[in-house]
Amino acid sequence: MFDHSQVDADLLILGAGPAGLAAAQYGSRANLKVLAIEQMSPGGQALLIDKLENYPGDLNPRSGFDFAEDMRRQAENFGAKIIGDGVLSLEKTGSLFSAVLDSGRTLRAYAVILATGASHRSLGIPGEAEFAGRGVSYCASCDGPFFKGKKILVVGGGDAACDEARYLSLLTDKVILAHRRDAFRAQKGVAQRVLENPRIEVRFNTRPVEIRGDKQVTAVLLEDSAAKKQYEEPADAVFIFAGTVPQIGFIPAAWTQGAFTDKAGYIITDQRMESAIPGLFAAGDVRASPFRQVVVAAAEGAIAAHCAAEYIDSLKA
Ligand SMILES: Cc1cc2nc3c(=O)[nH]c(=O)nc-3n(C[C@H](O)[C@H](O)[C@H](O)COP(=O)(O)OP(=O)(O)OC[C@H]3O[C@@H](n4cnc5c(N)ncnc54)[C@H](O)[C@@H]3O)c2cc1C
Repeated sequence: MFDHSQVDADLLILGAGPAGLAAAQYGSRANLKVLAIEQMSPGGQALLIDKLENYPGDLNPRSGFDFAEDMRRQAENFGAKIIGDGVLSLEKTGSLFSAVLDSGRTLRAYAVILATGASHRSLGIPGEAEFAGRGVSYCASCDGPFFKGKKILVVGGGDAACDEARYLSLLTDKVILAHRRDAFRAQKGVAQRVLENPRIEVRFNTRPVEIRGDKQVTAVLLEDSAAKKQYEEPADAVFIFAGTVPQIGFIPAAWTQGAFTDKAGYIITDQRMESAIPGLFAAGDVRASPFRQVVVAAAEGAIAAHCAAEYIDSLKA
């Protein structure tokens, strides 16, 4: 039924973070020819984790970097190939998917797993874009060491904001964590550690409205919604953790109608991780999910690869 010379792989995996690497490992172990496409370094957001202390079975926390490196090696040991390139567009013609890459190369496969994760959401306030890289950052482990002993404002109230505030408090005792609501969204244990940390001052009902400076950030205009006032807070850096957006810019607009994505743009799947497009699976942070963690991404990657193998078998039958 198929002209197999038309395909470059059985399974294309777009993105090689924890979800993509787990899928690559499981897909290869199921004897599929697997190509994973990654625009940066394999590992995704896990590369930013200072110490991964909540991965089940890993009693001695490793850096996210070491963890991701082992995932990559494990996937490659089972035969998966990781290609360093970006995905520009994706389409499906008949039963075949084709992905066009930044390099101009086109890759065809029977099934695709979307594992492109999510990227940080910006606040869109004055000064944010202007001072990006000059005091405004979205990654504490990347940029925190530049601000040792300095005054740092952290923005957000979820796991990432709390985790990163805690990491920054190892570098300075002048961390302010501003959250627009009156309680954290973070997991209880994570939030509690921040509330008990004497090096972090928590300000609820507080959001930044402007980032100010000259060559570097020098202050942030904050708004206290409870006291209904604005005031300028001196600060050397602002670390923003205001949620994430799914990375699906290369998906055809026609697919994003109807039941393909939720309101926030995350991919909706069934329990087999299959989307509304047959043969197109999604795993990890790009998927509509109540909990975005490494262990969840890895598990979803494994399910997606297993079910993609079943799908490919049924196509070939
Ligand atoms: C600072 C921080 C701390 C965290 N701490 C923890 C923690 O302690 N424990 C925990 O369990 N989780 C933690 N997380 C969350 C965890 O890292 C994520 O849930 C997990 O990495 C999601 O994996 P993923 O593979 O779905 O997506 P990602 O890790 O986002 O990987 C997606 C990959 O796809 C690639 N990609 C995107 N678009 C394209 C494209 N067009 N072409 C090619 N490649 C593309 C990206 O470059 C990226 O490498 C943390 C996250 C952050 C940011």
